[in-house]
Amino acid sequence: MNITIVGTGYVGLVSGTCFAETGITVTCVDVDQNKIDNLNKGILPIYEPGLEPMVKRNMEKGRLFFSNSLKDSILDADAVFIAVGTPPDEDGSADLQYVIAVAKEIGRYIDRYLVVVTKSTVPIGTAEKVKATINEELTNRNEDIQFDVASNPEFLKEGAAIDDFLKPDRVVIGTESQRAQEVMSKLYKPFLMNNHPVIFMDIPSAEMTKYAANSMLATKISFMNDIANLCEIVGADVNNVRRGIGSDSRIGNKFIYPGTGYGGSCFPKDVQALIKTSEQRGHPLEILKSVELVNNRQKSVLYKKIMTHFDGNLKGKKIAIWGLSFKPNTDDMREAPSLVIINKLLSEGAEVIAYDPVAAEECHRKIGDTISYAKDQYEALIDADALLIVTEWSEFKLPNFKVMEKLMREKLIFDGRNIYDLYEMKELGYTYYSIGREIVK
Ligand code: NAD
Repeated sequence: MNITIVGTGYVGLVSGTCFAETGITVTCVDVDQNKIDNLNKGILPIYEPGLEPMVKRNMEKGRLFFSNSLKDSILDADAVFIAVGTPPDEDGSADLQYVIAVAKEIGRYIDRYLVVVTKSTVPIGTAEKVKATINEELTNRNEDIQFDVASNPEFLKEGAAIDDFLKPDRVVIGTESQRAQEVMSKLYKPFLMNNHPVIFMDIPSAEMTKYAANSMLATKISFMNDIANLCEIVGADVNNVRRGIGSDSRIGNKFIYPGTGYGGSCFPKDVQALIKTSEQRGHPLEILKSVELVNNRQKSVLYKKIMTHFDGNLKGKKIAIWGLSFKPNTDDMREAPSLVIINKLLSEGAEVIAYDPVAAEECHRKIGDTISYAKDQYEALIDADALLIVTEWSEFKLPNFKVMEKLMREKLIFDGRNIYDLYEMKELGYTYYSIGREIVK
């Protein structure tokens, strides 16, 4: 089979490469000529564990191609996947301009039956808009070419994207014709053979499933963050509470870790977009408005603790930050809580030096030299008045505390991810603030 994937970002590049891994011939298309040129040289635009060798292997096997021409790539495609960005519009709704631009182009060049699949996260009704756009172009061309639309939202997680794609908890596919369902079944046959559930449904349900899933996950995070904040006030330890509730199989122990708020390119925008849809349809989802409010507050929790500790005066304080990306194992800085924290620290006159195993370059692209970047986690601590842990990269979990105390001016840690043991911090003599637990002094 042949497929085209339009948009070579986190989703498009991973999906395309993984489809190629199953034996399908894939052409990944992007408007960014630089990205395509680099990919053709084996240089990836993103950091994703395990992706680079897989891209190279599939290119060498002649199954994975990169191009800037949608026109050429769809000539022999059985399906074309739209995997371009859907950033938030000014009012919070999903901006569909890139999706519609691709649909227009497909309409201009389609020359025989194919299935047009939305893989981007798109609001309910988008497949209909894609269909109407393609039909409009076909009318302009005076052509009557059959095609189908389908919705196949992507659930991969950055940092674990390859495993998520190749061994998914489920694949969701919305179709409205037998023919489209047959093409999609064939594409996903290797997944079915390996007993990964492929769930077929109508298109609006598939579109809604993605938003409901991300909103549920965001709700779990905000719920746990607010419980953690209350734990601090009433003298409970959120780690104990988490273990206590997570052992109930109806609740489960995943995704109930408190922190500095959710970020990334998906949860914030998808929650906002679903709120917008609900308002437009006259059924505002109040619960999601609270999820968003709690999350925005949570991004300042660590900063508030620092301000309280230093009696509201951060002028001249040197603050080290470990972790910049919105979560470990990715270089993605979109909506990262670290950006909010850095902004607040700088506005209070603090000096910030940060270390992240892979996201420093991306952070520099966003905020330039407003902060300094350390080569390794220990260099960041030289003469630091405090350490802030914002992202829980593995290498931060068992650091050499003895070396750290020699480098820092004060043995002071603000941990936004609860990665250290309270007892150990007490033993080592650190002043240690975390989320939803007692302060160690
Ligand atoms: P991204 O910004 O990393 O990549 C989008 C790519 O599309 C860019 O390379 C851009 O140049 C390209 N593009 C834009 N317009 C184009 C056009 N007309 N023709 C060809 N290429 C074009 O985005 P992403 O993170 O991969 O997300 C893509 C979609 O998938 C979004 O809707 C997102 O919500 C959804 N999604 C993302 C994730 C994730 O973890 N990143 C997970 C699941 C779903």
